[in-house]
Amino acid sequence: MALIVQKYGGTSVGDLDRIKNVAKRIALTREQGHQVAVVVSAMGDSTDHLVELALAAGGDMRNRETDALLATGEQVSAALLALALGRLGVPAISLTGPQAGIMTDGIFGRAKITDIDSSRVKTELNNGKVVIVTGFQGMTESGDITTLGRGGSDTSAVALAVDLKADSCEIYTDVDGVYTADPRVVNEARKIHVIGYDEMLELASQGAKVLHLRSVELAKRYGLTMHVRSSLSFVEGTLVKEVGSMEGGNVVTGIAHNRSLARITVTGFEGGTKGFAELFRRLSAEQVNVDMIVQGATRDGMDIVSFTVNEDDVSKSLEVCESIGQVSASQDVAKVSIVGAGMISRPGVAAEMFSVLSEALIEILMTTTSDISISCLVPHKDVEEAVRLLHKEFGLEG
Ligand code: ADP
Ligand code: ASP
Ligand code: MG
Repeated sequence: MALIVQKYGGTSVGDLDRIKNVAKRIALTREQGHQVAVVVSAMGDSTDHLVELALAAGGDMRNRETDALLATGEQVSAALLALALGRLGVPAISLTGPQAGIMTDGIFGRAKITDIDSSRVKTELNNGKVVIVTGFQGMTESGDITTLGRGGSDTSAVALAVDLKADSCEIYTDVDGVYTADPRVVNEARKIHVIGYDEMLELASQGAKVLHLRSVELAKRYGLTMHVRSSLSFVEGTLVKEVGSMEGGNVVTGIAHNRSLARITVTGFEGGTKGFAELFRRLSAEQVNVDMIVQGATRDGMDIVSFTVNEDDVSKSLEVCESIGQVSASQDVAKVSIVGAGMISRPGVAAEMFSVLSEALIEILMTTTSDISISCLVPHKDVEEAVRLLHKEFGLEG
């Protein structure tokens, strides 16, 4: 008998028929003699609607009450799934994040899991039940409900799988694996059957939202293999696990893009190194994650700095920067990134990327590189074309 953690995303539990389909899959796993702990997301895009409501009522994304509201989405799908399993004669119980012992820090809207006490989950499993845990949420030490950041149910599932020492962790979503690019953007994208943690981390951090970045970080830290699959088919998906670190590897394994960011520019301040350090210290004190940075000086000797942040952090960033200089923000940008462990030892990859974009007359607004990725900020309207051109250029088509 194995202990299997299965996570079902929003589309997979998008309506009652889908929930019944998920219940059947769980029943099947149980018939094969396994214990099943399930983590669910909220139904369809219900979290988006809850976010809209919270903002319209005066909340923001860093707010105790916003989190209390957003957490209700997962409670709906968890309870419905437990009811649907009951109808199939499978004993099941739904538990909220707090009831499942998922403890977090107190950063509302992007809380980190600090500890899990899964004793209740274990007891219910040992009583023969399927345990359904609401993803995306936890509780602080003082008893407040928190959420883990958008897409965070993947992280709940991995954390639970690690704590339960599960034999496998299956992430069911609306695509049947991790592809060489978002299959909704590139028709010719190919399924990657096995991908190493580092490349998956890079793809996720550059915007491939198929997995929540922190879920891959956790899986890597604990050596847990993740299996990304479709809830609508039985084909093998993608295994995310440690792969051999021998020399070689693909120059480019995949292309990611991110449309949910903004570029902030601050001018007219005399900062020098100390001024830059102060600016970024203040941003980090406000929990703003800065991604790409370009700095320079204007003709009159004043400093200028441009950087990108997640779109949710624009208003916080503006607040911080307005006390330092003149600020402008643009959301008319997007980022395209090529990712591959083999580029570390292959010169000329950046030149090839820039050539493709320049031949297509796509303006490059900023660039950054890491050992295994190169990213370009481009105009928002051009990002999909950039993804398709780069996918072709680097030979990723099926
Ligand atoms: P879930 O609700 O199941 O968590 P998400 O919407 O968060 O699902 O993630 C799945 C989506 O990720 C897919 O529908 C796809 O459009 C997108 N995606 C982006 N990049 C990739 C990629 N490289 N491979 C597969 N899917 C990707
Ligand atoms: N329901 C949450 C969201 O939409 C968490 C998740 O789906 O992983 O972001
Ligand atoms: Mg997701």
